[in-house]
Formats: sequence, structure tokens, C-alpha cells
Amino acid sequence: MSGEITHATIQDGWFREISEMWPGQAMTLRVKKVLHHEKSQYQDVLIFESTDHGRVLVLDNVIQCTERDEFSYQEMITHLAMNSHPNPKKVLVIGGGDGGVLREVVKHESVEEAILCDIDEAVIRLSKQFLPGMAVGFEHPKSKVHVGDGFKFLEEYKNTFDVIITDSSDPEGPAESLFQKPYFQLLHDALPENQWLHLPLITKLKQDCKEIFPVAEYAYTTIPTYPSGQIGFMVCTKDATRNLKEPLRRWTEEEELKLCKYYSADIHKAAFVLPNFAKKALDV
Ligand code: SAM
Repeated sequence: MSGEITHATIQDGWFREISEMWPGQAMTLRVKKVLHHEKSQYQDVLIFESTDHGRVLVLDNVIQCTERDEFSYQEMITHLAMNSHPNPKKVLVIGGGDGGVLREVVKHESVEEAILCDIDEAVIRLSKQFLPGMAVGFEHPKSKVHVGDGFKFLEEYKNTFDVIITDSSDPEGPAESLFQKPYFQLLHDALPENQWLHLPLITKLKQDCKEIFPVAEYAYTTIPTYPSGQIGFMVCTKDATRNLKEPLRRWTEEEELKLCKYYSADIHKAAFVLPNFAKKALDV
């Protein structure tokens, strides 16, 4: 007996991300060592060291982040929204239990308070233990953590936050309610999906958002370890005059290089430029 932790998704030293959410395709990553596995109150939590992508967090068999490319997702989901607000002081992150979005939010000097509400204490606890590069976000003096359901949390707060970022897991599981119209009613911000795999879903999301917000736009980023190498964001605002495709605030080029590995004002603008097949579906 080697004492090594095993997991149903790992065979012959490879983790396989098989799901009906991306039929007929699967991301595989070579595993160096399984670091932790537990069933939390809400989900199956697996953390492994990969051979080439650093440490990987997997929830309910779906990759949430790898140390190698997480910056693309965390920076884009955060700064697209933050730089579309004139003066974000009070920011809420729903989900985001790895701490990476908090890490990005507190880079904005205007922020006075960044509150994170994740349903699962296990994700927060294990990210602090195994993913310190992301969990550093929890250590900032402006960061506060609330463990609970994001939907219920939002119901209690009206007109409180300047920016709300939804960094949830996929729609199957505890995050299901965060992809439905009643939640958008409570929200001011973003939802992730992918134009290669989920175009009808994104079209529906955009329609729903547009019934609630005067402005709703879809943007995307590239990220090798998410299905089809991309993930997208619905960015919405209550201000009907706002053009979300142009950053309202921007860092200097020098600041950008210091603060970000992926995001820049140019990338902000480019992120809203869609290939024709997606543009056609989403121009509703
Ligand atoms: N970047 C990731 C992705 O899209 O693959 C998401 C990462 S983050 C770890 C997702 C978090 O959403 C998890 O920690 C999970 O516990 C949390 N979550 C799921 N449902 C939630 C809910 N209803 N309220 C608050 N947090 C929720």
C-alpha cells in the first residue's frame, strides 16, 4: 500500500474532466501528486499537484483553477467590472473561495471594503492551505469573508455595493440559483460561460440580463484549462449611458505591467469583440 490518495477522475496518472456540460471532449492534466480530497457539505473537493500546471483545484470533478493560468480568469473577471465603475469603494464577490478575485479587487486603491461570500468553508480553508498565491487575497486588511449562500446574502443587501462579481462554480450543483433570472434581479454584475460550448445559454443569459439592466455586454478571455480554452463574462450596469466596452478608468501602462499579467486597457476593449458566429447569436 503506497498510502497515495486516489480519486475516480484520475486514471493512469491523468486527471480527466468528463462532463455533459462539454459533450464529447475532456481536458486531461497529468497528475504528479494528489494533495487533498474531501467531500464537503456542498461538493467534492480535490486538490492535486500537476506536472505542468502547478496546483489544481477541482470541485465536483470540474477544474476551478490551476496555478499556471488562473491570472487570466481572475484579472479579467475583476478588472473588466472594476474599471467600468467610476469609483468602486464597496465590492462584493459571490463565490471566489480560492481568494484570487479578492487579490485582484484590492489592487484598486479606491476600494474601502471587499466582501467575499462563498457557500463552502472548505474551499476557503483548503485554498489557504494549498493555494497561497490566490488565498493571499484573504489576508488584505480590506478583505472580509462571509460563509453562506450568495443568493440569500444578496437578498439582504439592497443598494449597498458599487461592484458585484459573481465568481461561482458551474450551473450544476450549489451555484444553480446563481445562473437564473431571479438572481440577476439582485445583481449588478457578471456571469461566466463559453461561446464555443454554451452559445444558447449565453444568448438566454444576455436576454435575461437585458430585461433587468439597461446595459449588458458579453466579453471573454482565453484560458487553456477551461473547456475549449475560453471563458466569458456578462458585464452589466444600471447606468444606461455607460459604454462597458471602453474602460472608464485605466491604469498607466507602467502600472498595468506591474499589477497585471493579462489585463490591460487594450485587452479590455478587445475582450468585447466577438467572432461572427457569436456576435450573430448574441446581437439580440
Ligand atoms: N474560477 C472558477 C470557475 O469558474 O471555474 C470558480 C472558482 S470559485 C472556487 C467557485 C466558488 O463558488 C466555489 O468556492 C463554490 O463554493 C462557490 N459557490 C458555489 N455556489 C455558491 C453559492 N450559491 N453561493 C456562494 N458561493 C457559491
